[in-house]
Amino acid sequence: MKCVLQLAMTVGIAAAGLTLDVGKAEAQTYRFCNLWDFTWQDDWAAQDYLTHVPSTVGSQTAHYSWYNIVKDGTLIDYGWLDSEGCVETTAGPGSYLLRLYPAVYDGAKSFFIYPNDQEQWQTFEVTRQMNATQGHITQYNRFGSSNGLANMAAVAAHGVTRPELGFQSGEHYVAYTYQNCPGGAAACYHPGTEAMYLGEHIRADNFATQRRIWQKSIVGHELGHMISSRLAGGPSGGNYTSENCIGENDDGCTLPQECQCYPHVKSSNGAHCLQSREFLSDAAQEGFGHFYATALYNAPNQPGAFAYYKEFWTYGGTIFPPFPYEVGLTPVGWLEAFCLENDGGSDRGTEVDWQWFFYNLNRVFNSSNYSMEDFAAVYANSPGAGWSSWSELADSAAATFPGIKGASWQTAGDLYGVNH
Ligand SMILES: [Zn+2]
Repeated sequence: MKCVLQLAMTVGIAAAGLTLDVGKAEAQTYRFCNLWDFTWQDDWAAQDYLTHVPSTVGSQTAHYSWYNIVKDGTLIDYGWLDSEGCVETTAGPGSYLLRLYPAVYDGAKSFFIYPNDQEQWQTFEVTRQMNATQGHITQYNRFGSSNGLANMAAVAAHGVTRPELGFQSGEHYVAYTYQNCPGGAAACYHPGTEAMYLGEHIRADNFATQRRIWQKSIVGHELGHMISSRLAGGPSGGNYTSENCIGENDDGCTLPQECQCYPHVKSSNGAHCLQSREFLSDAAQEGFGHFYATALYNAPNQPGAFAYYKEFWTYGGTIFPPFPYEVGLTPVGWLEAFCLENDGGSDRGTEVDWQWFFYNLNRVFNSSNYSMEDFAAVYANSPGAGWSSWSELADSAAATFPGIKGASWQTAGDLYGVNH
């Protein structure tokens, strides 16, 4: 676990040789307020950063981000921006350089973003000429247009200040925005390094190379894995290849294509997808990632807009990504509709059913909604922890939350078809 002080030290070393000069207070007060610009390629179905403005670009207040102020070539101030993304100086007229780091720290939770695991900072700068006649003014600055680190910084700044998103005090979160996973996958949360990776993927059909940092659904999904991992408990998985109907390793698979990823998933990892029949723990883990991405970009009182990032097979044809839909009350029941009859075995599920299950329990199912921490508690208290069977999870929910809340786990499981 890295310490936030490390950042201050890093910046301090970078500033060595420069003069710290904050003593010349004059009448002019300049307040610099800053925004992270984000750019997404999969913004569909009015899905937007809490506001539901249909747009692929937008801005997020750069609150609690690390800044430098360099005035006339001299570093005069550094620290964390305030809760509004602002910093004030009284150093008087001159040429100001504002430098922002893609690092967020709200006093309890930190989220640092690097291009790769070498962990060198890539910073963002803007220069402003402030003159004597301006007096007390507020200067707005925007950082990072069409830069993937800014996408992630916007998500980080948003996430650490939203209590419903499961960030934990004392935790340090790390993202590498231009690097594939240690195992080679284009995007993942890696438990070994405790970091999330957003790299590039070369499509199987050679259409194009895709960078994951431009896909908000993937960013949200991998962040969901990181959040789930940092909570006391949460769904675990990753054993997809043991299921007969996964990928090209489909020996003995008797399920229809509606319950597989092969052969239609080409834009991404074909080992698992929204509709594939998986072990229950895998389906829950991936469904949690989809649910988290939905929760991340939508306010609690808004419809659950989501854009899926792999191909989806239905009605005898392929829907190509991004595939937008709204997570709602009406159950999908994908497993029950297509994937139960053949290729037996219990404790199976699909990602889409689990996305619906988590989303509705979290946001709309009844008056005793499950928080991210509540989900973790159910997993932590079950005998199999992250690998639990349905019955273990339902028992744990009933024991952890006696009364209507605990019972609603089973009710929702029955309704959304994850009770298999
Ligand atoms: Zn995943």
